[in-house]
Amino acid sequence: MSGRSLTIRLGNGVEVLGDEEYHFDAEVIEESGTFCISHAHSDHLPKRIKGTEVIASDITLRCLNDRSKKQLSMAEPDGVTMLDAGHMAGSRMFQVEVNGRSVLYTGDLCTRNRCGNKGARPVKTDILIIESTYGKPRYVFPPSDVIASLIRDEVEDNFSQGRPVSLFAYPFGKSQDMIRILRDLGPYADLSVFNATSLLRSEEDPLECQLWDGEAIDEPFVVVCSPWLKRTRQEKLMCNRDVKRLAVSGWAIDAGYKRRMGVHEAFPFSDHADFNDLIEFVKGCEPELVITHHGFADSLAYEIKARLGIDARPLVKGQRTLAEF
Ligand SMILES: [Zn+2]
Ligand SMILES: [Zn+2]
Repeated sequence: MSGRSLTIRLGNGVEVLGDEEYHFDAEVIEESGTFCISHAHSDHLPKRIKGTEVIASDITLRCLNDRSKKQLSMAEPDGVTMLDAGHMAGSRMFQVEVNGRSVLYTGDLCTRNRCGNKGARPVKTDILIIESTYGKPRYVFPPSDVIASLIRDEVEDNFSQGRPVSLFAYPFGKSQDMIRILRDLGPYADLSVFNATSLLRSEEDPLECQLWDGEAIDEPFVVVCSPWLKRTRQEKLMCNRDVKRLAVSGWAIDAGYKRRMGVHEAFPFSDHADFNDLIEFVKGCEPELVITHHGFADSLAYEIKARLGIDARPLVKGQRTLAEF
């Protein structure tokens, strides 16, 4: 083992610095250093690109290049193992070795198999850096297939009453889950969902949907919409008609979520691990240290220590050195 200290901190992304230097989900892609991007959600993508290479899945790279003028290519993934994160198409976790310690980094992850996505599997690691979006014990979701059939039933019930349905879901990831669930009901997509879906479509995953242009359709129909488009013309048109509005999100567990989203029903269907999934994942990795980041990092670190007896610390912005060995 090298004599240098191993530092894990929140800087330009999550930084792991030792005899090798890694940046995970960095804000700036620099010209030197190893930059790993976990998935194509905008809060994980770089805001500035100075360098030319990153480590990411083909799908993530395609989405990234679609959004930016400066095109990136895939770096030689020397010493970096990419593992499926189960969160959305192309989402990855990264395992690296620094100062003789194995370090596993997860951006957003989901350990459940759902709608054709295979859940993330734990791997043995010395240090685990894990996201903590739903890192509080109250965030426990019913099985994904149960919620999926509730969503389908709800849509079919409305159809039988002649009512169209709008379903709010994030354009990248959850929208494609909804399109798969509603496949044989001929789902429509608003422009942002349609464009995201076009980028993620593959031969194995045809993701059939039609673009909805905001015009009335004679038969009852379901349209998957971005939650950010609520106030656009399309949505106004829909609200003016008798439309059943649904949303899907892990936050549906919270009282007040339906009101906040302006929907009639909300389903706790998520592309993230719930609290129990996170604890099980940590257990399976058998780490000696866990670093929690994003979301309820304090709560998750506390619960990991209390329930598993594993040293765990939240990654706090501004704290210079987190772990020294
Ligand atoms: Zn995400
Ligand atoms: Zn995220």
